[in-house]
Amino acid sequence: MRVIPVACLKDNYAYLLVCERTRACAVIDPSEAAPVVAALLAENLRPIMLWCTHHHWDHVGGILELSVKYPGLEVVASTYDRTRIHGLTKTVDGGSVLSLGDLRAHVYEVPGHTLGAIAYAVMAPKRVVFTGDTMFLAGCGRLFEGTPAQMDQSLRTIVSLPADTQIYPGHEYTEANLRFAKTVEPKNLRIEAAFLRVHALRERGEPSVPHTVEEERAVNPFARVDEASVRAYAKLPSNASSADVLGVIRAAKDAF
Ligand SMILES: [Zn+2]
Repeated sequence: MRVIPVACLKDNYAYLLVCERTRACAVIDPSEAAPVVAALLAENLRPIMLWCTHHHWDHVGGILELSVKYPGLEVVASTYDRTRIHGLTKTVDGGSVLSLGDLRAHVYEVPGHTLGAIAYAVMAPKRVVFTGDTMFLAGCGRLFEGTPAQMDQSLRTIVSLPADTQIYPGHEYTEANLRFAKTVEPKNLRIEAAFLRVHALRERGEPSVPHTVEEERAVNPFARVDEASVRAYAKLPSNASSADVLGVIRAAKDAF
């Protein structure tokens, strides 16, 4: 299997997920059609499915044009988003399994950024998860619809996947996220190392994606709300919940 990131719009990523034996291909989060079509042509691929993580325009904007260009495309999103995304042909929920050639993708409900947000995880032959705007590398999405408690649970769902699972998020926000993470945990050397590595990649115009679950457990402040250093940053009473800590950090990031 292969995952091919496709830079879209200003800082979005769509992805091509390919079963190499069968050439079956899914497009994840088709923000816009043109760069996705160019990537498909470059790889001589024809998509059979579009998988959307959530209803925001910068993740679904290419659906109609791609559906016209590739008749028969299966267009997938969560049942919650069935009236918020035009052109769907199939809805899924937590626990649903999608087949793409030899690959099986498991659907997880990950509300917080939006209430209909889902992640798609493939566990063999490699482990990858597409997290949309719920988890970014070293960060998480803004809480437009959900609560801190929902985001806390959703991030726990993602970082509970096996440690070598590669995380592919919806935006290239990693460098800014690590800059913020350094202010939360200035003594965390993993964050400093990740920042230097990602800064160098971005200077060369290369994508920072993916990170592994193991890296995110080490550097993502929103996935580290049980750590003493992160709790100390939040300055909450000792009996504050992990969701309370996440809420404080999310508000600090919004103002960063
Ligand atoms: Zn979004």
